[in-house]
Amino acid sequence: MERIGIYGGTFNPPHVGHIQAAQQAIDALKLDKVLLIPDWIAPHKELPENSPTPQQRLDMLHLAANNRPGLEVSDIELRREGVSYTWQTVAQLREENPEAELVLLMGTDMFLSFHTWCHPERILENASLGVFCRGEKGEVEAISRKKAEMEQQGAVVNLVNNEVVPISSTQLRRLLAFRCAGAFLPDGVLDYIREHRLYDTRTDWKNLPMEQLEPIVLRLLNPNRVRHVLGCRDTAVDLARHWGADETDAARAGILHDITKAIDGPLQLTLCEAYGKILSDFSKKYPKTLHALTGSLVAERIFGENAAVVSAIEHHTTGKADMSLLEKIIYVADYMEPNRDFPGVEKLRELAYSDITAALKLGLEMTLEHLKRQGSEVSPESREALAWLNESCK
Ligand code: FE
Ligand code: FE
Repeated sequence: MERIGIYGGTFNPPHVGHIQAAQQAIDALKLDKVLLIPDWIAPHKELPENSPTPQQRLDMLHLAANNRPGLEVSDIELRREGVSYTWQTVAQLREENPEAELVLLMGTDMFLSFHTWCHPERILENASLGVFCRGEKGEVEAISRKKAEMEQQGAVVNLVNNEVVPISSTQLRRLLAFRCAGAFLPDGVLDYIREHRLYDTRTDWKNLPMEQLEPIVLRLLNPNRVRHVLGCRDTAVDLARHWGADETDAARAGILHDITKAIDGPLQLTLCEAYGKILSDFSKKYPKTLHALTGSLVAERIFGENAAVVSAIEHHTTGKADMSLLEKIIYVADYMEPNRDFPGVEKLRELAYSDITAALKLGLEMTLEHLKRQGSEVSPESREALAWLNESCK
């Protein structure tokens, strides 16, 4: 009997993780083929602004699946239009394939919320489930519990061990904006994206005026970081005015300082590679600290910022020896902006307006103290910064 996998999603855009997952499902569940089905409108999430049309997502999926054994693209949900309910798709595929075994494939999150879907019972009448499991801590336990619960009710649930390609479509859209997504896109998809000027490949972002720069930056951040970044921009401008630094540079460095913070650790390394940056051993060991460096690279190459702004971003977490006034301002603004709340922040806020170098030193000392308590290493740049500050604050 033919076994058909059903793999639906937004595919915005389709990436190597999708293709790899589909191929792993074919092997693990002995499927004859997997149907890749882009939705017209997803029931559970809104697409970000400026997303490609459903037809463009379908075109990209055709390019991604091109000539790969067992992968087929289906436009079943596009033809139906409206909200793409899975129960309807499964019922239609059952009608078209009365003899086949249908296996609905899904990721962990979707599986754990399966009971909230529209008509889950109708889906289970027509298909078994294949759940991608990355084997992460906590995840296996939650999946096993849900699997046992559903099997008691008669469902058939199989797990597919899914070796992780460390990428999601959300992250990929950021990498596209930073012009370094190539490694995660199947052949042809990147060309299609460029040719049709999709996502953020359509514009030149160099030297934009602040009112155009800001909305672009804010949508590339994690939503929960927006307040911090706006607070940092305002504080930096205020400090620049107070100390006679360039207010425009302060605003631009403030708004851009965490531009790559939403990129996970392993992808930070990808970003460095794409920009041809050779890393220190310390950075390789602590890729989470890399957002300052990658942020500076993006500020320079994507947004065309000047050297002063780029350097202030590069050193905003570690500091360095011989910091400029702008570098001090961004370091301190990041530390004390109005959304920050920790013991000692008031003292830091006071010092920032009476002695910016002393404020920087206090911030750095607090950071080093925190790292020490955590048992983490201190970067060479921070050590050099402190030695320099001890010398100059004598
Ligand atoms: Fe930061
Ligand atoms: Fe920050």
